[in-house]
Amino acid sequence: MLIYGRRKIRIKKYDDYHVKCENCNGYEQRFSVYQEYFHLFFIPVFPSSSKIIKSVCLNCNDLFNQEKKSHYLAITRTPIYLYTGVILFVVFILAAVIENRNTQKEKSEFVSNPKVNDVYLIRQDDNNLITYYFLKIKNINSDTVELFHSAFQYNRFLSTMQDSDYFVKDETYRVLKSDLKNYLDSGMINMVERDYDKTSRFIIEK
Ligand SMILES: [Zn+2]
Repeated sequence: MLIYGRRKIRIKKYDDYHVKCENCNGYEQRFSVYQEYFHLFFIPVFPSSSKIIKSVCLNCNDLFNQEKKSHYLAITRTPIYLYTGVILFVVFILAAVIENRNTQKEKSEFVSNPKVNDVYLIRQDDNNLITYYFLKIKNINSDTVELFHSAFQYNRFLSTMQDSDYFVKDETYRVLKSDLKNYLDSGMINMVERDYDKTSRFIIEK
């Protein structure tokens, strides 16, 4: 369930003891500045209206004094926290961009310098029939790499093997080291895993 809508809060309060009340001649005017904002789960996302100001005499509750209203309205700035949602969104996007750039960089480093036990997630596109499977480096010779294939093929992206999957030992695939780079450039290598956990499914070979 999505909870959202508009709310109004007082963003500033000024008590002025120099403004004379037109009703009671007292000198106790309070100016309150309000602003409406759009919220998502009660977190302010952005301001949704211009600011409004109200004045009240603290002595007689008269609401009609106009003096200095525009002054106090003009000096009141919209607080940054009313942009919390926008700021979070920007931070989130930036973090995702940086994270993705680091992942891409690491992936290309791993592919340029393959190590035994590296696992690749391969995305294969045969006439728009897309399948995914895992390859694991078994051996590295001077210019070739020997790979194990996962027992399963998948029809969707996944970041780890399903619980009953494993690497098949009886069959190895041999590719040139330089091919790995081509696989990466052509988008076939979706993910490279190195130094994964000992409990990972990637450990299991049958
Ligand atoms: Zn008054």
